[in-house]
Amino acid sequence: MSTKKNAEARDRESSWTTAPGIALQIRAGFQIASVATGSTPGWHGDKKAGKAAMKERGKLLAELQERLYAEARQGGERRVLLIVQGMDTAGKGGICRHVLGMVDPQGVHLRSFGVPTAEELSHDFLWRIRRALPPAGMIGVFDRSHYEDVLVGKVDELATPAEIEERYEKINEFERELVDAGYTLVKVALLIGYEEQGFRLLRRLARRDKHWKYSPSDVAARAQWPAYMDAYQAMFERTSTEYAPWYAVPADRKWFARLAVTELLAQALARLAPRWPEVRWDPRTQAAQVLATMPRHTAQLSVEELRAEAEDVAAESEDYRNGVEKLITQDARKDAGERVGNGQ
Ligand code: ATP
Repeated sequence: MSTKKNAEARDRESSWTTAPGIALQIRAGFQIASVATGSTPGWHGDKKAGKAAMKERGKLLAELQERLYAEARQGGERRVLLIVQGMDTAGKGGICRHVLGMVDPQGVHLRSFGVPTAEELSHDFLWRIRRALPPAGMIGVFDRSHYEDVLVGKVDELATPAEIEERYEKINEFERELVDAGYTLVKVALLIGYEEQGFRLLRRLARRDKHWKYSPSDVAARAQWPAYMDAYQAMFERTSTEYAPWYAVPADRKWFARLAVTELLAQALARLAPRWPEVRWDPRTQAAQVLATMPRHTAQLSVEELRAEAEDVAAESEDYRNGVEKLITQDARKDAGERVGNGQ
């Protein structure tokens, strides 16, 4: 990267005054009612800077994902699971398209969870979740998840209060099991305001090309907003653990929610520090063998071209190292003053 570009990238990064891992993580005393859904905790730049920073981070995210994938090809067991929850129109689909859209689709394992089928209902609530878990080396994405069973499950009284209580415990045990098996969980709740949801629903109704996204049942869920907020609050309190914390992402500004999730995901991957696997053959010997099959002139040209390419890759590796290091050390820059909704 040129010096000018490096300086521009540094400027954009400095717009994070508090890393989202700190600014958005749910901690003791968190109150969903105190979240300003239009705010951008930790981020002091504007929308334009946010979009540019996200694009920049996307390159790192793509390489981290490719490394994780390559690692698994050699027997690595690690994987990342991004769980996305949110009320209707909160932007879950946008996260899938815009954040995960920046990495190779081969490495993404996306699953959505709607109303359970008769077969799913005949099993424990985690049955369908276990079947949807990502293989090693993948970034799994759950668009809705087992948390529906303590959200809509609680609000619509699809289970007794005792059963809901038991589910929190089961979820914690399940997630502990996943973490022990090599999963990194990134749990994000996209929090939109009641008013903003009203606008988004109306926009869907006003546009013919958005009608397919609307369901009359969305109004029924909206009518139960306070009960949903209570269910979210209970979910945060009962299932935000040290090994699988929740992040509350204010989501009225779509660009901020996408930027924040990109950063959280990149940070989770950077912590894993996935490495390119070692090969058992010598690249020089192999190259000599390939060159021996080519006419002398073409071979000479290829060597020159590849030398230039190798230099570019070395420069990119430097950017990668710097980026990863920054992501990992971000948490050290604590600034408790900007945490989301925990009254500090
Ligand atoms: P979305 O609203 O997520 O964009 P959608 O409108 O296309 O998706 P589906 O994905 O088919 O709808 O289903 C989502 C609906 O399924 C939500 O209303 C959600 O509450 C409901 N749902 C998901 N899981 C469960 C569950 N375990 N029990 C009951 N309802 C559930």
